[in-house]
Amino acid sequence: MRFDWAKITSLAYLTLLELDIHEFPIPAKKIRCKDVIISSYQKYAKITGLPIEKLTLGHELEDAFLLKGLRPDVTLILYNKEKYGPRMKHTLWHEIGHIKCGHKKHSEREEIEAHFFAAQANAPNILIKAISQRGYSINVPFLVECFGLSKEAAEKKMEYLQKYSFNHCNEYDDLVQLQFAQYLNQKYPTKTNHYYDDYFEDMEKERQGWY
Ligand SMILES: [Zn+2]
Repeated sequence: MRFDWAKITSLAYLTLLELDIHEFPIPAKKIRCKDVIISSYQKYAKITGLPIEKLTLGHELEDAFLLKGLRPDVTLILYNKEKYGPRMKHTLWHEIGHIKCGHKKHSEREEIEAHFFAAQANAPNILIKAISQRGYSINVPFLVECFGLSKEAAEKKMEYLQKYSFNHCNEYDDLVQLQFAQYLNQKYPTKTNHYYDDYFEDMEKERQGWY
């Protein structure tokens, strides 16, 4: 299976730019999608008077659920309020990913693409790169703390970074960095020590070269 990772990354970054998100972890209320209603099952059942079993169309109560056709031209993402947490954010982005990627079915390919979209929306690689360049070490606890990822999602991200490092560039890298510049400067100011360390290390190398 071949994937267009750059295109999915572009879609995820464009979504962050459009939603005018400026900080991480992304506040839950900021996770939205044009022409899509995002609501908890519980709230939606109350508003519509439909029992939850009917909303899930007989499926077990999943974390979240993409629903089309209940009303014409309305796409719904319903989520289980009781399960709201770091994993839920990934699930919501995943469902939005299906919409943004224009998926018509849910086979293995679509699932992988939606997961990748969610991973890039929740913790954009370009921002991880920028933070790393400022002298911070990137590991699972860091990703959990900085981006509010679940441990599972953070481990997957580390696997990806260990495999590809920051080799994948994207057409929207600069714009995303610009949008989060204030956040980065406030929360992750460049560690000058890091540069001093490099500086002294270079000097030491040079000194050793004298002999
Ligand atoms: Zn899916």
